[in-house]
Amino acid sequence: MVFDFGGVIITPITTGINALAERNRAHPRAMLEVLIGPDETGDHPWHRAERGELTVDEIQAGLSTYASKAGIELSGDEIEVLLVPTYTINDDVVARIRELRAKGIRTGLLTNTFAEFRPTLERDLDLELFDAVVESYAVGARKPEPRIYEAMAAALGVDHAEIVYLDDFPQNLAPAQELGWQTVHVTDVASALDELDRLIRSQ
Ligand SMILES: [Mg+2]
Repeated sequence: MVFDFGGVIITPITTGINALAERNRAHPRAMLEVLIGPDETGDHPWHRAERGELTVDEIQAGLSTYASKAGIELSGDEIEVLLVPTYTINDDVVARIRELRAKGIRTGLLTNTFAEFRPTLERDLDLELFDAVVESYAVGARKPEPRIYEAMAAALGVDHAEIVYLDDFPQNLAPAQELGWQTVHVTDVASALDELDRLIRSQ
């Protein structure tokens, strides 16, 4: 079982983006693409920082061309505001990970994240819950780039066909499915956990 962090173990980052969109009087989707880049992975500064190519402090300065193309005026503090950890932990998901592990099922954390976030991650989540933790900055690849999924399967030491993966961004599920992973698109936690149980029973 492999779990995404944002939007699965914690509340989604889109909550913070929507608040900034409202503050800046921008459309939420346009604001999302300016701040964290389009669904396709590429050279957007957020994507580059997630691959460990830029520091978090360098993201904001790289957003001006994206903002002007989208017709959005930025205040200059958006990334700082977005990265204040205001999320809450989905305790039901953490409890389920603990149960699965107790049953002998191998567990993994697969997350697009920054090196600078690692201390917060360790503070807010018991990483001992996972047999393998794969972070984008550490492997130099981010979801949906295929290499990070390969790194996860290798770290877990299981066949692709044995993996069930939960993520809230549909674009992150497609490459997993191509490798033969079963996937759960997380929109609300309760239905996602029901779907996970159904997949486990059918295995
Ligand atoms: Mg997510």
